[in-house]
Amino acid sequence: MQTTTLADILPADTASVDETMALGERLAARLGAGDVVALYGDLGAGKTHLVKGIARALDVPPETVSSPTFTIVHEYDGVVPIYHMDAYRIEHPDELYELGYEEYFYGEGLCLVEWPARVEALLPDGAIRLRLTHQGGDRRLIEWMNGGGHRGVEESKNRGQ
Ligand code: ADP
Ligand code: MG
Repeated sequence: MQTTTLADILPADTASVDETMALGERLAARLGAGDVVALYGDLGAGKTHLVKGIARALDVPPETVSSPTFTIVHEYDGVVPIYHMDAYRIEHPDELYELGYEEYFYGEGLCLVEWPARVEALLPDGAIRLRLTHQGGDRRLIEWMNGGGHRGVEESKNRGQ
């Protein structure tokens, strides 16, 4: 993992979808196969658009990226495999076992997880935790939570994620 360099670009403010996607592209240069990135944030915070930017940097057309809300996981065939997970509908960890989550969390690809608080207990120790928050209008704040302790994770849980 190359997480130390995430601090070069985060925290960051974005003021549009394009800026969030561009930030995703910059993040992608600091991510690699085997990384698990947990994307905390409310509905509409921009998690999927950040994934679109990361995917674009890895040669996956961003228009093919959408929240896998019903299928739980989308796989994209990029420079490295991308596993795009949306845990919103996961009610019980058993559902992740049935999905074969080990392949995604400990596999060959880059794993990006929306609504990670739903699967918090199963996230690998080395998961990279990012938080996206609405700042009014089209502005979003994207922060790297690792290093800031677990306060942010607890806040996310309290918000019902
Ligand atoms: P999430 O996956 O967190 O629910 P999405 O990326 O699917 O969020 O959607 C974000 C929504 O917010 C989209 O409708 C997008 O047009 C809008 N939006 C407005 N400003 C931004 C921004 N700065 N970054 C990302 N999305 C933004
Ligand atoms: Mg989404």
